[in-house]
Amino acid sequence: MTTLAGNYFDGASSRRRPAEAQLAGGAVRVQVDGRELEPPTPLELIEVSSRIGNTPRFLRFPSGGSFETADNDAVDRALAARRLGRGLAHRLESRLRVVLLGLVVTIAFVWGTIQWGVPALAKVAAEALPPHVNQHMDGAVLSALDRQLLHPSTLDEDEQARLLTVFAPFLDEVDPAYRLRVLFRDAGHSIGPNALALPSGTVIFTDQLVELAERDEELIGVLAHEIGHVVGRHGMRQTLQASALGLLAVLVVGDVSSVSSAVIALPLLLTELGYTRNFEREADRYALATLARHDIDAAHLAAILQRLGGEGEEPGEWSGYLSTHPPTAERLQYLAP
Ligand SMILES: [Zn+2]
Repeated sequence: MTTLAGNYFDGASSRRRPAEAQLAGGAVRVQVDGRELEPPTPLELIEVSSRIGNTPRFLRFPSGGSFETADNDAVDRALAARRLGRGLAHRLESRLRVVLLGLVVTIAFVWGTIQWGVPALAKVAAEALPPHVNQHMDGAVLSALDRQLLHPSTLDEDEQARLLTVFAPFLDEVDPAYRLRVLFRDAGHSIGPNALALPSGTVIFTDQLVELAERDEELIGVLAHEIGHVVGRHGMRQTLQASALGLLAVLVVGDVSSVSSAVIALPLLLTELGYTRNFEREADRYALATLARHDIDAAHLAAILQRLGGEGEEPGEWSGYLSTHPPTAERLQYLAP
């Protein structure tokens, strides 16, 4: 027990009474000649004035009374003991809780942004962009494809014309603002049997895909899927999402140069693949609705997908198509239940 000498003020009058404060067990009790002026009060409940040089300190009690003492060192010792007593554990625990909470909130926020925020923003932005932006993108993409991957079609001209006539009703029913058109190209061994939609509405069928088809309905199914990509503006959304994701990575990591490092690149790639799959499902849903409207069995689309997946001896030919699409088995499930 520590005893401090000083004066007591009851808070109601300005009267100063010489008294002593007894510190014991983290509590302070004020008394004079054995008469209790303040009952034992936990230090936590007492407001202690800061130390300024050697001016007297005040201990203010919840009752309104206060005790004045010049014994600064004893007060400091008591305060230090209280800090220790209240414990490192307590302070660490309360701080740890805040840190963990902050961590959880941050992770949830970043995850939510990646999961919903980025795609939603990209969708709004892509739809707000005027169509001619897409057209600019297209010219560049098509000439790059023609230089590097594709060759002029070797399909019979009559066959090309016939297919275009078969496709016409499906192109005509879409808003002309999308400027849909179909081109045929020989993919050689680059991308094999494949179809792709460029952002401005150009749909490319490779000769190899046309040759793989056993019925026009199969190609119509693929066309409907590709139109789904155009109408959904997936090309532009993909581009915007990839940029936003890269930007987000810079914000999180705080360093542009590390974005290309493998640690960052892999999650980025996986997230982009996730986005791509959502686009594929969207395009498949669009295809299903189109086929139903024209009384065409979705099983035809399923059939050509299955043939694409079954052509296993040369993986290079179709793996590109499959890797950006959900697993064939999964698609078959909703295309031909
Ligand atoms: Zn697709």
